[in-house]
Amino acid sequence: MHQLAVKLQKMEIHVQKCQHCFSNKLKNILFRESGEPDRVFIQCHDCQRFVASYTISPMGYYHHGKGFESFLRGVHRTGEFMSGRRVQRIFHERKVQEEAAFEDVLEKLRIRDEKREQKKKKDAETDSEHNG
Ligand SMILES: [Zn+2]
Repeated sequence: MHQLAVKLQKMEIHVQKCQHCFSNKLKNILFRESGEPDRVFIQCHDCQRFVASYTISPMGYYHHGKGFESFLRGVHRTGEFMSGRRVQRIFHERKVQEEAAFEDVLEKLRIRDEKREQKKKKDAETDSEHNG
C-alpha cells in the first residue's frame, strides 16, 4: 500500500526530444522479427540521429484504429492461444482502456504545461521586480 502511494506520487510525464538537437519531431521505427520481442527505434526526424529504443512486452503494443484483425495477429505473434471470443473481448477492453489512458495522459500534459507557463510568468514578474 505504502509503496503504491510512493509510486503514484512519483508519476512522471515526459515528451521525448532528441538529445542532440532538442527536436520533438521523432520517427518511430517498429521492428519485428519472429521469435524476438517487437522493438521500436526512435530516430530524430530533424538530425537523423539515434534517440532511443524500446522493447515491447508481449501484448504490450496497441495500434489505434487498426481493428480486430491486426490485434489478432499481434496476439498470435506472442504465441498465445485463446478463443476468438476471448480475444474479441480483450480487444474491446484494450481499446477502451488505451483511449482513456491516452486522454488522461494528454490532460496531465496540458496541466503540466499550464503550470510551467504560470511559473515562467511568475518568475518573469519576480525578475522584473528585482530589476525595477
Ligand atoms: Zn535531432
